[in-house]
Amino acid sequence: MKRISDYSTLSAVEAVRQSIARAKAMSEYNALISLCEDRALDRAAKVDAGEVTGRLAGIPFVAKDNFLTIDSQTTAASDFLRGFSSPIQATAVERLEAEGAICIGKANLDAFAHGGSTENSAFGPTRNAVDMTRVAGGSSGGSAVVVALDIVPFALGTDTGGSIRQPASFNGVVGVKPTYGAVSRFGVVAMASSTDTIGVLSSTVSDAELVMDILCGPDERDMTTIDDFFEPTVEPLRSMKIGLIKESMTDEVDSDVVRCTNDYVNELRAAGHIVEEVSLPLLKQALAIYYIVVSAEVSSNLGRYDGIRYGNRADGQSLAEIYGRSRDNGFMPENKRRIMIGSYVLSSGFFDAYYLHAQKVRTLLIESFDSLFEDYDLLIGPVTPTAAFKLNENTADPVKMYLADIMTVPASLAGLPAISVPAGESADGLPIGVQLIGPQKSDAMLLGIAKQLEETI
Ligand code: GLN
Repeated sequence: MKRISDYSTLSAVEAVRQSIARAKAMSEYNALISLCEDRALDRAAKVDAGEVTGRLAGIPFVAKDNFLTIDSQTTAASDFLRGFSSPIQATAVERLEAEGAICIGKANLDAFAHGGSTENSAFGPTRNAVDMTRVAGGSSGGSAVVVALDIVPFALGTDTGGSIRQPASFNGVVGVKPTYGAVSRFGVVAMASSTDTIGVLSSTVSDAELVMDILCGPDERDMTTIDDFFEPTVEPLRSMKIGLIKESMTDEVDSDVVRCTNDYVNELRAAGHIVEEVSLPLLKQALAIYYIVVSAEVSSNLGRYDGIRYGNRADGQSLAEIYGRSRDNGFMPENKRRIMIGSYVLSSGFFDAYYLHAQKVRTLLIESFDSLFEDYDLLIGPVTPTAAFKLNENTADPVKMYLADIMTVPASLAGLPAISVPAGESADGLPIGVQLIGPQKSDAMLLGIAKQLEETI
């Protein structure tokens, strides 16, 4: 895979042309919903003329299609927003553009980011970069595949419960889900506001570090953003104390995944770090908490899509009929399922039993992370229980699909930074990643450790 520095010999126009040509040649993967060819070439010409400069001058990238971008549609992979043209850009896109980066296209995803395979897209599924009969992972499946296929050196994604880390693992690329609030969510289609994060997928850890350094920082248009704490680490790193989450290394987890995680642990030890087994007993409960809390927030955030304020409008004789038909046409079955579950757990009579209870257990989960971080600098475990599964393997059974998120949702619920880095492959050659989780604002340290090991893995 190409890294950002590999582009230094190309003019911006050449770089953009190459990326777009490769995107078109690889269209059978269905990783992109649209290309922003004219605007990209226009901006590239400005970079070559010296009118636009910066740390990413002339570097092509792709944004997941839930980031608002001007001069191209933003669909969130839904029929509801098919053809929607935004008058504004997401802060993340703006920050990259301010450093000279060039958005060449918009990546496929599970509609409204609901899913873990990019099969819930109104534009059809994205295929895995290594095995076309398998899923790309999701919901940032398109973003992972464009990096793995060498279309661009990095892509923007969103991670609410694993949507950057899991597709990164399934396609053999680096995926960074930052501390909650580290990167502005302004201009990104909301899924679940208390766990939504913006991050990057890239071919190398150092490229991810450079992009995160640009993305992080407060934004007056997103009041949940925090101070700019991100400082890339300088080697050599001190010896870290790392906890291996034992509940994520059980017999239920694929043996290839356990083997790759153990291999990575051995490399960490060889690099001078201390790794010990630790317990996170609430791991299993985290999945139940996640699907209650996130569905509740989804049902609220998606209320705006009614065909009147937002989204494509269907015909109807009455207001209720317009709402109903617009929603029926615009949402995918998985979106509807989550809206219904969310409305149910928030409804009078069930609120205490489900939503409130889930929030209480979420607090316990946060406390158990806090107490682990009193003794350990960071935690390690697999990203997913298996490598990429077959297309259509899990679509008939939503709960089976949800179970694949068991290892990624805990960090999301606690707002912790977590990264997925390639750790090896399965017996049949599928990529497998490992997950590093740290306390809030330890993003740069996690990347520093992964960078230290990148050459050996
Ligand atoms: N797979 C998880 C879900 O379906 C994560 C989604 C996400 O992070 N956007 O909710």
